[in-house]
Amino acid sequence: MSSFTPAPATADLGVFGLGVMGANLARNLARHGHAVAVFNRTLARTERLIERYGSEGDFVPAADLKNFVASLRTPRVAIIMVQAGAATEAVIEELAALMEPGDIIVDAGNTLYTDTRRREVSLRERGLHFVGMGVSGGEEGALNGPSIMPGGTAESYDRLGPMLESISAHVDGTPCCTHVGPDGAGHFVKMVHNGIEYADMQLIAEAYDLLRHVGGFTVEEIAEVFRSWKDSELDSYLIDITTEVLSHTDAATGEAFVDVVVDAAGQKGTGVWTTQTALELGVAVPAIAEATFARAVSSSSAARAAVQAADIAAGTTQAALTDPEERRAFVDAVKQALYGSKIAAYAQGFDEIATASKQFDWNIDLGAMARIWRGGCIIRARFLDDITRAYDENPALASLLTAPVFASSLAKVLPAWRQVVATSATTGVPAPAFASSLAYVDQLRSRRLPAALIQGQRDFFGSHTYHRTDDVEGVYHTLWATPERTEEKWD
Ligand code: NAP
Repeated sequence: MSSFTPAPATADLGVFGLGVMGANLARNLARHGHAVAVFNRTLARTERLIERYGSEGDFVPAADLKNFVASLRTPRVAIIMVQAGAATEAVIEELAALMEPGDIIVDAGNTLYTDTRRREVSLRERGLHFVGMGVSGGEEGALNGPSIMPGGTAESYDRLGPMLESISAHVDGTPCCTHVGPDGAGHFVKMVHNGIEYADMQLIAEAYDLLRHVGGFTVEEIAEVFRSWKDSELDSYLIDITTEVLSHTDAATGEAFVDVVVDAAGQKGTGVWTTQTALELGVAVPAIAEATFARAVSSSSAARAAVQAADIAAGTTQAALTDPEERRAFVDAVKQALYGSKIAAYAQGFDEIATASKQFDWNIDLGAMARIWRGGCIIRARFLDDITRAYDENPALASLLTAPVFASSLAKVLPAWRQVVATSATTGVPAPAFASSLAYVDQLRSRRLPAALIQGQRDFFGSHTYHRTDDVEGVYHTLWATPERTEEKWD
């Protein structure tokens, strides 16, 4: 039996679940002067936390859930940091049974926003506040300052927000935490953050691949190229870590680390969620979808082996670039393609957030989302300042592509971007996210899309009707089976 004695109701908040993330979040809170109640299903973890880090701040450990809840001052705040899904569901129920109206339950795991919306309704009916909270930055972020995306009621944020803001990352003195919006808004924004992260990583990987297999650059040379991009609009955490990974040599073989790693990318599901949700909302996020599919293709070992064995005709080969001027020009073209694609990918992610915000009445401040992603999280980047400014100047932007800063950048990079995508196609070195991002921009800028033909096909086989360009209010159907192909106005 533990030596923890039941404590009076003095803890500012509690953390349930002391795995990697929960323990670090609790330590971060304690280090910032908050009295933190801590509880874990397996007591040994709580004991280990107190033994190792108890001196870092005011921890209030509990051996059982009843004492954990009893140690919280009212209105109580309990943050759950356990596996999403059944574990989170079970813990919410256990906690809710012991909480009182006005108390706040926070789910800080990676939960699908639809689950959060459902749970919020059910807990609201019981008088409890339920906050779905996105936390980004991994274990290091949780300890030293994550980007935090809490949803839920404004009232719950009044109680919770100051504590969260104190432990979040700060950039230029501004916390990387803000109230995102009601019910599932926080988890939704975290999901899209991860989707954008997938796209950003894939785009960087494609830039690497083109430099290596079209340009003929060595791994060390590519590491230097990425290092040089730090002094540009591409400056970001992901570019930094890419440089580190490419500079790393495998100790066992002396080979470049990237050459000894199996080329099958794993995933935990947030890219799939972001893509599925976009499909449900009718929003186009091709860069995020391509990045998710690219991970799936990379892991399709049987199909890859079969197609390789079939020896299907390859693309054209291009000799490694040796002329310094040509090399410089290729690096610059890839850089421009990467920047253009990155603008397109972020525009897609923000479009998904904007669409959900309208659909669910969340009233999300899009500029503030870019602001809280500037520190603590995986997609932190200089670039996000431009997004914040763009939405500050015009909160009603229909697409980030039209913000003056991005419109002028796109105009500049498009020629090189087209050239890089064309080279990828002719050489057969795949760059699916570069290509689909370019197609996304081209579709949006086209005055006429072949969707008109699709409407004709739909009307032909399924009487799905169409609108006419000269009467956009009316609904029309052509009697395709009649020799005259008479047109009828149906509405
Ligand atoms: P972890 O180290 O595997 O710890 C899991 C925790 O969940 C343990 O405390 C475990 O308790 C508890 N747990 C599991 N099932 C339970 C149940 N049925 N009832 C009560 N407690 C249960 O996990 P983690 O990496 O800290 O991740 C926790 C959450 O944070 C996940 O939702 C994850 O998606 C999210 N997240 C993780 C990261 C990251 O970088 N790791 C980043 C952002 C968000 P026991 O000790 O008793 O097993």
